[in-house]
Amino acid sequence: MRRCRKAVMIYAVLLGVACGGCGGGSPTAPSATTTTTFSGIVTNIVTGAVVAGATITIGTVLATSASDGTYSLAVTTAGTPSFSAAAPGYYTRESAVSMSGSKTINPEIIPQGDGFNLEFFNWLFRENGTKGTERPVVIPNYEIWTRQMQCTELSTDGYDACKRMIVIADSIPAIYEENIRSGIAQFGRLTGGAFTNPTITTKTHPVDLVISRNDWLTANGTVSLSYFPAGLWSDANSDGNNAYMSMGLSSTQPGHILHGWRAAEDLGIVTHELAHSLGYGHPSGREKWPDSIMGDYQDGGYGISAADELHGRILYKRPYGSLTPDRDPAGATIN
Ligand SMILES: [Zn+2]
Repeated sequence: MRRCRKAVMIYAVLLGVACGGCGGGSPTAPSATTTTTFSGIVTNIVTGAVVAGATITIGTVLATSASDGTYSLAVTTAGTPSFSAAAPGYYTRESAVSMSGSKTINPEIIPQGDGFNLEFFNWLFRENGTKGTERPVVIPNYEIWTRQMQCTELSTDGYDACKRMIVIADSIPAIYEENIRSGIAQFGRLTGGAFTNPTITTKTHPVDLVISRNDWLTANGTVSLSYFPAGLWSDANSDGNNAYMSMGLSSTQPGHILHGWRAAEDLGIVTHELAHSLGYGHPSGREKWPDSIMGDYQDGGYGISAADELHGRILYKRPYGSLTPDRDPAGATIN
């Protein structure tokens, strides 16, 4: 069994905080009182089934969804009223409404069941529930480094991460590039179809070029990938099995993925590191989720489980920074 042994996961959202798929609007700007009739249909985000008897509340008015899941609600207010959709057996969807946004609001609410597991969701995307969700809001570009790298200096923070590396003349093995492209081809599964077909380029650095960690010579929003043969970085930790994603310490830096020579041959490990760049994490308790791409999975295949796909799909239907159980961050609106 091989896996990513060192999880030096210092990732941040690639392009900063934004609210995905939601309206803007300034909550502090004065605005006139208006009346808007909102309507839509409430569904189960996992099964797609309509949800009857859900309570939709906008500001101080509320309505109950009918047997076909539909509701209609006339709202007279100024500003950005609160929104919630609550139903027995579901997590309450909480957001806010833009009075000038779409009049159609179709809440897809998260069931307490049907395969959704809040503990797993929090483990994957919210540091076991201690933070808001983190994910890129724009699909990253990927850059494959075609020459091998040799680490010349390890970090002293206990992770033995590579702080400084040098480009050597050898080309990366074909299997590494194949695995990267195969892993990226699975992004639709990891993001519910939100992020597919990212731009993939290759870069051939000059031999002997020295590159420092977090100075990856790429633009923000680019994730580069490098390969390390036997040598300081590989040998320091074990035997080429190491791999990690090292993204910038802030949203203003690009990301980088490193693979030791043995890890690079393993499609599951390559896909695992790529999943980090999509917001997938693995804080403590990794052994509890053996089937997950971020868990204690076995060799072979991509390592993506049905649960990974389900929870990743929900992540990508929510804005960056959403909170448990299903609360949008301040400033986000549902329409
Ligand atoms: Zn990892």
